[in-house]
Amino acid sequence: MTTERAEVKRQFGHRARLALTPAQARLMDGQAHAARTMWNCLHDWWTMLPKGKRSLAAADAAIRQARQEIDWLGVLPAQAGQAVLKTYVQAWRNCWEGRADAPNFKARLRTVMSVDIPQGRDLNIARVHRRWGMVNIPKVGRVRFRWTKDLPVGKLANRENRITGARLVKDGLGWHIAFRVQTLESKPEPHTGPEIGIDAGVNLPLALSDGNHQGHGRPARLPDGTADRDKWLNPDEKAKLLRLEQRAAHRKSFRKPKERSSNRLNRTYDQSKQLRAKATRRAVDWQHQTTTNLARTYGTVVVEQLNITNMVKSAKGTIEEPGTNVAQKSGLNRSISQEAWGRTVTMLTYKTGRCGGTLHKVPAPGTSLRCSACGLTTAGSREDQATFVCKNPDCGWFGNADWNAARNILHLYRIGLVAIPAAGRAVVRRARRAKPATAR
Ligand SMILES: [Zn+2]
Repeated sequence: MTTERAEVKRQFGHRARLALTPAQARLMDGQAHAARTMWNCLHDWWTMLPKGKRSLAAADAAIRQARQEIDWLGVLPAQAGQAVLKTYVQAWRNCWEGRADAPNFKARLRTVMSVDIPQGRDLNIARVHRRWGMVNIPKVGRVRFRWTKDLPVGKLANRENRITGARLVKDGLGWHIAFRVQTLESKPEPHTGPEIGIDAGVNLPLALSDGNHQGHGRPARLPDGTADRDKWLNPDEKAKLLRLEQRAAHRKSFRKPKERSSNRLNRTYDQSKQLRAKATRRAVDWQHQTTTNLARTYGTVVVEQLNITNMVKSAKGTIEEPGTNVAQKSGLNRSISQEAWGRTVTMLTYKTGRCGGTLHKVPAPGTSLRCSACGLTTAGSREDQATFVCKNPDCGWFGNADWNAARNILHLYRIGLVAIPAAGRAVVRRARRAKPATAR
């Protein structure tokens, strides 16, 4: 017997900010626009072609021909062009398997600008300073990036620990590089910490069943009761955003129909995009710190299974049957979207897995209306958004409504009502027709 612990392969992304010169940033923008146009041409070609003639090989040949004949497509590195095709085919696969809508054309202003670097060996990463690294970007050159994590590069790289590729993504604050990292780590010991139920509340960002609620000190609602859209911005930044929005609306009022936006208008849009990107970054930072602490403290984490897209969509209703109270509901939904519950769950899933814990999901209905002390649902117990008072004369439990829901969630897990098998530790995807080992 060996005393060595089992090792597990881990794949994760690491995002770093690039320090591009204005000329390099323009080159990157050009590549991203070329990648987007290639997607659009590919989509046009694919949907025009009879079904029998659509194939990967034919698409590949068409891309090669297009790159030779259209010179501005040539600014996109060949590998990145191949990656566009791969992503496009995957988008159809996601559609056929029911995970997403059919792929569509990508609009110039509504698309996240990105370029793929599918092969890690092209990157040639080196650390040049305590805080800076250097990376090769095809057709742009050597670029500095912020070094905030020790990456397996140079002498540290081997077959198991290496960078397998990267993706360049632009947000309001500029270009970033997201490395695809692969490492081999020793398997964590099973986490023996306590069980916890977590509810994504409207008043408490994360309500915990043991009362140790996680907040970020920024009220979710404004004094008049509406959801605070920009709670991650300081008062000064909020005022600036408002000013920018007013300025944009004013400039837009001079634009005639079908006319292009002026450079001044676009610059104002960019400035407000910058502020929003800053807010998102603060929210994500808080989520990372909070979920890391939770995964370290608790062995079993139980959350509600929510379908956020449906909740946000359902408030609006359809054209034939518009929803009622859309404004109030969408205010509530917006604050749910903003707390980005889906992202919190994703983070908790992989973080609990890394700490040896597990994450469980329980069916959502009724958790916010049922009393967590006596288990009865009584009319009028939800006195307002924040307080829950049980109307059962024998019980009378009262407390924060989100806390009540978190206690219910943990209770559902304890009585065995788990919606999806443990996603944290071992999610084994079986091939569709393969029989499980025990069935033989
Ligand atoms: Zn009760």
